[in-house]
Amino acid sequence: MSYLPASVFFNQDVKYLKGAGPQRAELLQSEYGIKTYGDLILHFPYRWVDRSRFYKINELTEEAPFVQLRGKIKTISTAGDKRATRLIATLSDDTGSIDLVWFQQIKYLRETLKAGSDYVVFGKPTAFNGKINLVHPDVELLATFNETLSGNMQSMYPTTEKSKGRGLDSKAFWRMQKNLIAQLPPELDECLPTTIINQTKLISLRQALIQIHFPDDERSLITARYRLKFDELFYLQIQLLQQKLVRTHKSRGRVFSKVGDLFNTFYKQHLPFDLTQAQKRVLKEIRQNTLTGHQMNRLLQGDVGSGKTIVALMCMLLCIDNGMQACIMAPTEILAQQHYTSITALLRNMPVSIALLTGSTKSKERKHILEALENNDLNLIIGTHALIEDQVVFADLGLAVIDEQHRFGVQQRYKLWSKSKTVLPHVLVMTATPIPRTLAMTLYGDLDVSIIDELPPGRQPIVTHLRFENNRLRVFGFLKEEIKKGRQVYIVYPLIDESEKMDYMNLMQGYEAVVQYFQQPEYKVSIVHGKMKPADKDFEMQLFVSGKTQIMVATTVIEVGVNVPNASIMVIESAQRFGLSQLHQLRGRVGRGAYQSYCILMADYKLSVDARQRLQTMCNTNDGFVISEVDLKLRGMGDIQGTQQSGNMSLRLADLPKDKAILEQARQAAINLLETDATLTQPENKVVRNTLNNLAAQKGNWGKIS
Ligand code: ADP
Ligand code: MG
Repeated sequence: MSYLPASVFFNQDVKYLKGAGPQRAELLQSEYGIKTYGDLILHFPYRWVDRSRFYKINELTEEAPFVQLRGKIKTISTAGDKRATRLIATLSDDTGSIDLVWFQQIKYLRETLKAGSDYVVFGKPTAFNGKINLVHPDVELLATFNETLSGNMQSMYPTTEKSKGRGLDSKAFWRMQKNLIAQLPPELDECLPTTIINQTKLISLRQALIQIHFPDDERSLITARYRLKFDELFYLQIQLLQQKLVRTHKSRGRVFSKVGDLFNTFYKQHLPFDLTQAQKRVLKEIRQNTLTGHQMNRLLQGDVGSGKTIVALMCMLLCIDNGMQACIMAPTEILAQQHYTSITALLRNMPVSIALLTGSTKSKERKHILEALENNDLNLIIGTHALIEDQVVFADLGLAVIDEQHRFGVQQRYKLWSKSKTVLPHVLVMTATPIPRTLAMTLYGDLDVSIIDELPPGRQPIVTHLRFENNRLRVFGFLKEEIKKGRQVYIVYPLIDESEKMDYMNLMQGYEAVVQYFQQPEYKVSIVHGKMKPADKDFEMQLFVSGKTQIMVATTVIEVGVNVPNASIMVIESAQRFGLSQLHQLRGRVGRGAYQSYCILMADYKLSVDARQRLQTMCNTNDGFVISEVDLKLRGMGDIQGTQQSGNMSLRLADLPKDKAILEQARQAAINLLETDATLTQPENKVVRNTLNNLAAQKGNWGKIS
């Protein structure tokens, strides 16, 4: 995916480049997807090494970073047997000597390395049998070393094993880039309008491309990277913003023109509490949105327990007041059931017809529901994935609410809102996994976002502790006391995967230990895990919900949405194995009633640095937004769910959240541009339009789906 301006130069086939040739071109294509000059020039270095600093051999320790040495290769020998031969060259400088070791390319190295010559060597010191050596270092004759330098920096290119084995290594890339840059036309088109370049004080695209491959110094490298990151993020943002523009201006939406009887009666007579300011604000935002005549596509973020459901329910009433149907889709059967129970209770004695549709709805009842839905005899339907099946036909769907969004893929969302025959229904996606602003902008830059950033009054913050195996008896003792006061307890084990026999064993052993320990004074234990039949799961869950069992031993199947206000303690076993957002979700299952709630993280003594930070973060804060920021920092963007399938170009250079500031600048520039010239028809903005067309042609049309 490239934002380079279309040009004859960039479109040339790499096989015509000096140093490439047909065979290497094939390798470039198969290993890296590089076909053209343009593709190659965007194969950026991943590291720039300061080649001005030379280490002395006696300075080296295992902790040293990549180091550069200058010395004489004294001897070259092979060791080991046939199957595990290694080549050892001894390098000496005036402070000592060190072994350079290779396990591959031995034949080639034997032929080229010259004993008695001076070399520059570059590698990472490692310890082996108590001695420091360098494994697979880069070596270069001192005599030719200076040729491959630009300033003091040397660029290192990402390479694959296969490619290195065939001689296409970092240095080979370096040479090809050198040849390519040498031919770069003196006048290179820009990919950004001049005003943006000037306002943001960016260097030219041409300079940036030269400097990222061959930086004069550290500063030029920074400005070059800045420029190219800006390009990436700018084009990412402008694509998202355009999708949003298209949606808000072109796609017609239903108009919820009146606030009717249902909404008003509910608000005045049924609502069991006052709405928080945040809930009111979000309701207003949605109300405004549904008046515009354009389709709403909104993400509602709110921490666990912040009261998203009631907001959704009131929006659905608004929809029904205007003569249309509404639906809410939940990711699990238990959750759908729970929504059904609480919504029917809230709407008791109100003229709204409600149904529940899930995988286990009996066929006779299903038939009845589907008919009613199609005849407009049903106002509100609650369900699971069953709602998106083809047989489900709405008479007039006005609003689709999707709960706990992260469980559903983009495709499924699309399927749901394509269920309207004429005009797209409004869509409200609710998530309890807060997404950091940076990420939200990248992933959902095309959605409107509402945030409930306030918990209902009277909630006591959950107290979280980290405990180890030697504290277990005390932890269990504490559980006993709380149960005696009438509370209930969750004990959660890491997910059972079919292949993970160990996890299953741990769960069962844990369960038995719990049953044993709590026999006196006869506390009852439920168990729920993924291998159980849905009916059995529900049965056990019901026992716990109704208070017949005091302890629920479970896997993460209870992670999402389940609401048992009397449960006030969450024990998480092997907590170090969970990700931060999952820990936060699990903890959100308690703290729903009026009682002081606790979360106890049971962990191994030996914790990795990351795991310690995750658990410490949990102990320090209850704020989902803070947690999501830490999570993003620890994991980086690549691992966060959904980023791969965001359907937009992948980022080569920009690294979120580190490059947050550039992202915000790029987004602002894109917003300003679209505000002054939405159609990109002004002459100076034509480059943006061309580039966008280019990008669209390269990726096929993803736009509409997300
Ligand atoms: P979530 O945002 O996690 O989906 P819920 O919608 O399930 O949260 O709400 C959690 C609990 O808080 C529910 O029992 C709900 O009735 C209650 N609740 C929601 N809004 C308020 C409010 N404004 N005041 C008091 N309780 C509220
Ligand atoms: Mg919820």
